[in-house]
Parts: sequence; structure tokens; C-alpha cells
Amino acid sequence: MDEAKKPIRLPESEEGAVLFNVPFPRDLKALKGMAPIITKSHYEIDYIHSYGQDSPFFAGLANGKLLGTRCAGCPYTYGTPRLHCMYCGGECDWFELPREGIVHTFTVCHYGSQEFLPETPFVLILVEWPGVDTMFLSRLVGVDSAAASLEWVGMKVRSQFKRLSRLKPTDVYFVPA
Ligand SMILES: [Zn+2]
Repeated sequence: MDEAKKPIRLPESEEGAVLFNVPFPRDLKALKGMAPIITKSHYEIDYIHSYGQDSPFFAGLANGKLLGTRCAGCPYTYGTPRLHCMYCGGECDWFELPREGIVHTFTVCHYGSQEFLPETPFVLILVEWPGVDTMFLSRLVGVDSAAASLEWVGMKVRSQFKRLSRLKPTDVYFVPA
């Protein structure tokens, strides 16, 4: 065939949703009752996120320090970053939490989000410190998750920090003290 007379067509691929024989009514009035079509496609973005007033918490992690906050207006103390008190609304100040705390409770995770899936099963703990009114959720490593037992409740644990900070809450984890 003469090159100039060939029909013009874009290249096609079999990536993504490839459907054949999608039901379609002869009477177009029936289209109004059609169920929505749902497709799946891969989506990837760079997400720029501000830690805002929690930024000092992450700067602390990058420097091997776990920071809590203490209300200036009432005696409440937080084991997490919180710049305003949930009780009195007063402003909080930063302080460094002790390296050692105790396991308040734990759970063994056999399933997780995509990032943590390769590490399952892993152990999550709530760490408590004497005199601190809220707890901190973190990982407990260096224990056998298959040997999980209630004996772990009350166990002394010690914070450890990743040398290469990712500026994420997972920069800190705990090991038996
Ligand atoms: Zn307060």
C-alpha cells in the first residue's frame, strides 16, 4: 500500500486496564442507569509535607534525642510532640524523655502497610515513663515475636536511634534494657 494512504493510528499497549466486550446497550437511554466504571492505575507523586510546629521532635530524632512536651499552664506532660495542651490549651515546652521506659502494652503485627510488610512479624509497644501522662508508640526489636508473652508488660526498654535519620517517627525504636 502507498505509505501516504495507510490509516494513521497511535501505538497501543496492553499495560493498565485492558477490557474486551464492555457491555453497551443498543438503546442509549439505558446508559443513564449504568453502574460506574472503576479502574485501577498506578499513581506516584512527590509529596512535600511540613512538620510545622512538630519539627523540633524530628530534629531531636536526628540528634539521638526523644523529645516530649510539658504544659506551661498545668501539670500535664506528653510523651509525644504537642505544642498546645489538650486540657488547658496552654503552650507546651520541649523536654528530653528518659532513654529508659517500660512496656505498657504490646502487639505483634503480622500485617502492615507496604513499607513495613517485609518486616512482619514485628512488635509494636506503647512506652510509658514515670511522671509522663501519655505514652509513645514505637517498635520493640531484639525480641522473638514468636515468644511474645504477657511477661513483656512492664519490661524495661531503652531507646535506640537510627544512625541515618529519615526524619520519620521510625528513626527511634526500643530494645530490652
Ligand atoms: Zn495544660
